[in-house]
Amino acid sequence: MVTTLDKVDVVTVGVGWTGGIIAAECAKEGMKVVGLERGRERGTSDFAIVHDEYRYAIRYELMQDLSRETVSFRNNRKQRALPMRQMGSFLLGEGLGGSGTHWNGQNWRFLPYDFEIKTMTEQKYGANKLPAEYTIQDWGITYDELEPYFDRFEKTAGISGEDTNPFWGKRSAEYATQPMKKTPILQKFETASKNLGYSPFMMPSANLSEAYENPDGAKINACQYCGFCERFGCEYGAKSSPEITVVPTAKNTGNYEIKFNANVVEVMKQGDKVTGVRYFDTVSFEEFIQPAEVVVLTSYMMNNAKLLMVSKIGEQYDPETGRGTLGRNYAYQILPGASGFFDEKMNVFMGAGALGMTVDDFNGDNFDHADLDFIHGASLSITQTGNRPIQTNPVPPDTPSWGAEFKKASIENYPRTLNVGGQGASMPHRENYMALDGTYKDIYGVPLLQLTYNFTDQDRALHAYLTEKAAGIMQEMGAKTVVGGSPISDYDIVPYQTTHNTGGTVMGSDPAISVVNNYLQHWDAENLFVVGAGNFAHNGGYNPTGTVGALAYRCAEGIINYSKNGGSLV
Ligand SMILES: Cc1cc2nc3c(=O)[nH]c(=O)nc-3n(C[C@H](O)[C@H](O)[C@H](O)COP(=O)(O)OP(=O)(O)OC[C@H]3O[C@@H](n4cnc5c(N)ncnc54)[C@H](O)[C@@H]3O)c2cc1C
Ligand code: SF4
Repeated sequence: MVTTLDKVDVVTVGVGWTGGIIAAECAKEGMKVVGLERGRERGTSDFAIVHDEYRYAIRYELMQDLSRETVSFRNNRKQRALPMRQMGSFLLGEGLGGSGTHWNGQNWRFLPYDFEIKTMTEQKYGANKLPAEYTIQDWGITYDELEPYFDRFEKTAGISGEDTNPFWGKRSAEYATQPMKKTPILQKFETASKNLGYSPFMMPSANLSEAYENPDGAKINACQYCGFCERFGCEYGAKSSPEITVVPTAKNTGNYEIKFNANVVEVMKQGDKVTGVRYFDTVSFEEFIQPAEVVVLTSYMMNNAKLLMVSKIGEQYDPETGRGTLGRNYAYQILPGASGFFDEKMNVFMGAGALGMTVDDFNGDNFDHADLDFIHGASLSITQTGNRPIQTNPVPPDTPSWGAEFKKASIENYPRTLNVGGQGASMPHRENYMALDGTYKDIYGVPLLQLTYNFTDQDRALHAYLTEKAAGIMQEMGAKTVVGGSPISDYDIVPYQTTHNTGGTVMGSDPAISVVNNYLQHWDAENLFVVGAGNFAHNGGYNPTGTVGALAYRCAEGIINYSKNGGSLV
């Protein structure tokens, strides 16, 4: 039996950063909002004495239960896709706050170049800089148009930073809080990159340098540099996360309710509008329908795409013909970098998820690509996130990989090893896409999302070039041995890389190559909004969430306008 609940103004599927922002903004406007979250309730008090690496960083306590739902994967269309049975390349979020609870907090605005990448690349390098199978496109919005929304997200999250990077787009305001502390490790990077003629700056951080109250009255504490940040919740309430910012803001209005253990399996559509969503209680398996005036998919980019596919909303992308938009332009990220082994001991055990310094000299189009066989680039950073004791065993080349000699070298090198690493941009490719799996289903009987993905020649060229630049910085920092990252070959879903998946529900100004308009309103259903990194038309040289947060504020504005006036917002 299916129970139909009372209709609300807005329902969001998932309560991470995107779901929380939409809820806060709409509830403040007096709209009745329900958040359906498949995971459980949790908050700062659950994270007391949380420094258990095995439980959280290795067994992924805060993340999605893959025995209930996962994705299937293959490198290309000729292979058989198989389900990802253990968390690997990326870590999917679940529960109040989503991945925003256990993220690092490295908070970026994509570059002006990113939003107009096709136009700018063609203007400077001609139409044939990349072969036609790279499906790059503009985003249908410019950096300047998105700037006010970046500012809103950074003020909500209290981002700590300094505006000294010469390559960024223009900012309308300073960062909300001062940059984090510049430790001796960071100073080493700063001196070396300045010697090389680069422009280092403190990484913008959602681990807050000082106590802060945001414009909605939510309070965030000062970071204690505990070093157990990425993959952990913050026991001090010092990492900006949905459950300590936008969720309480929404709740304080009295217009917001969250239903936990509620797994949405379908968006219901009648004619050219959606009417609500169908979900299962994950404990009792009871089925419910939540009717709503507006449905907002905020369930991470993969689930957003999957829900549209199973609900048959929009045209599935077909790599054979190039037709269809849903699932198109799926992109991941590449991680060029270099390790350095030093003589002196350093305090690598302490740190914070976003404690770092960066150079952008080789990001975006900040350097000349005329003689290079790739476009874009990567931010190159040193981060001091706190080296976890079980997982951090750096040893120089030619050390045995087990036994007494390995142990000795591991203990010796643990405090003497640093890394300079890049978030490498990844361009969409005709053969990289998402679809529904024809074989495997989740626990609710819904087909799994299937990823078809491999690194491209553009990725390989970019990786090699940026690895050399990272090694150059490491050399200048004084490492006695420098080891550059191995060249990349085929993408492997097993080792952890990043949770920076993009595309599949791309935004744009042309419905022929995008799923949503630049308010993240679906082209085929005016009361359906889809928001997340799935809206990115390609993946940039940074972590995604600063840009995702800006898009969520833009989307909230669109929903509020839509609820007053109806119709298409563009
Ligand atoms: C370990 C780690 C470190 C990271 N560090 C950084 C960083 O430093 N900087 C950065 O920019 N980004 C970082 N990220 C990425 C960042 O966390 C995500 O970009 C961001 O949290 C995405 O927000 P979201 O709202 O789109 O999705 P999520 O945070 O994933 O939230 C989606 C929510 O929807 C729920 N949901 C999904 N499907 C359903 C369904 N069918 N029904 C009901 N609910 C559903 C999920 O349970 C989840 O709670 C990191 C991610 C991880 C895992
Ligand atoms: S490093 Fe700072 S923000 Fe991160 S968990 Fe520790 S105290 Fe919290």
